[in-house]
Amino acid sequence: MRNMPRPASDTVLLARAFDYASAHHSGQTRKGFAGAPYVDHVAEVAALLAENVEGVGAEVVAAALLHDTVEKSQASLAEIAELFGERVAGWVGELTDDESLPEEERRRRQVEAFKTASRPARLVKLADKTSNLAEVAASPPEGWAAQELADYVEWGADVAAHCRGLDERLEARFEEALKAARETADRLGTKAARSG
Ligand code: ZN
Repeated sequence: MRNMPRPASDTVLLARAFDYASAHHSGQTRKGFAGAPYVDHVAEVAALLAENVEGVGAEVVAAALLHDTVEKSQASLAEIAELFGERVAGWVGELTDDESLPEEERRRRQVEAFKTASRPARLVKLADKTSNLAEVAASPPEGWAAQELADYVEWGADVAAHCRGLDERLEARFEEALKAARETADRLGTKAARSG
């Protein structure tokens, strides 16, 4: 894929972004859904944006497809800039956590970062949290304690709190996912308390 010209059309941009994400997440699996392929998640985030956000641009949908590549693979922002343009790379950069940090610090920084993130990055993040929370609601990760799940859900809610007021329909989808995830966390907590 190196030394390819800039995408000539939105169709090329999106097809290339899906190809790139699929190659870079190859072999990776999701937390829930019995280890379904990770690329399912980024495809879902892209579809959530495309189907819910009025007038969303192809570059934002491409950033959604690419949003986890730098964090979870050998992909670099320089390469993304080369293949997809500086704007897309900038948003992917905003959506990339520093994986070398301890989990708690990484989560705290993500909440901070989205207070001032760009509108496209906040839209992708809201769709990302929608996908993540719907996932743990439907299929809580194997081996997670009830408290671990509850903390994960509330962290998602804290980050999403800074991504509000951008799009009503996407926000409604997020609310549904958050409600379902809180119900699952409560159910697991009750079960743990009964058996504990
Ligand atoms: Zn993601």
